[in-house]
Amino acid sequence: MRKEGKKIGFVPTMGYLHQGHLSLIQASAKENDITVLSIYVNPTQFGPGEDLDQYPSDLENDKKLAEEAGADVIFIPDHHIMYKDNHATYVQVNGLTNQLCGYSRPTHFQGVTTIVTKLFNIVQPDHAYFGQKDAQQAIVIKRMVKDLNMPINIVVCPIVREADGLAMSSRNTYLSTEEREQAPILYQSLQKAKALIDSGERSSETVKAMIRQMIHGKSTTTEIDYVSIVSADTLEDIETLEDKILLALAVKVGKTRLIDNLQMEVGSYVN
Ligand code: AMP
Repeated sequence: MRKEGKKIGFVPTMGYLHQGHLSLIQASAKENDITVLSIYVNPTQFGPGEDLDQYPSDLENDKKLAEEAGADVIFIPDHHIMYKDNHATYVQVNGLTNQLCGYSRPTHFQGVTTIVTKLFNIVQPDHAYFGQKDAQQAIVIKRMVKDLNMPINIVVCPIVREADGLAMSSRNTYLSTEEREQAPILYQSLQKAKALIDSGERSSETVKAMIRQMIHGKSTTTEIDYVSIVSADTLEDIETLEDKILLALAVKVGKTRLIDNLQMEVGSYVN
């Protein structure tokens, strides 16, 4: 297809598709001649004690949804195809992977960059689509592509949410009814933080304290992994809020670790 001059779009996922994934497929289908979807629960991006073995799967439904959304090819490899017994090569992006999710998941991003490199080499897309939901992942992948001269354009698509603001995630299926009711607190605290910043607050610590209080105040079943405000380019912590910032959080609701984020431009003026 490439030799015929067709543009190839690629959407890597771990399956159990929801509207967030489908928005990436739809974006690709709009901008390319062929859209390739991969479904692969990549073991090297899971740490010990994480949910690799429980990760939800419904391949028949995924195939139906993917086709409706405009996928032309679905690639569902087995572990023995992706990782031979003597697999020895990993891709590591330094500097952007120790903080935020990389702090509590120290081997996660190496697993992501390695599998995405392998998938890029197999599919050889022109454009690859990622979600802003995994903001750090998108930044790491963009850096990898730039540093390693991969001839692929990375497109980052907006977060798709449930009606009550909860960011869609395959992991939301783990939530009990009570936990599901608490889960929108991530989004609500980000919205409140934005309002605080919009009204002139420029202290990162003050905004983070407000978010922490809001999440902890909600219930005893929420446990904060991190609440961070970082530069949206470098992912470095910032004290005084200015320019392009990323508010990012990871919170365990019961046993389920949820992430969410909000990117915004902070004006230099103070009201
Ligand atoms: P996953 O299957 O969780 O690895 O996600 C595959 C891709 O879908 C990643 O690029 C995610 O960032 C993206 N994605 C997951 N959830 C959402 C969402 N709620 N909105 C937009 N993109 C998403």
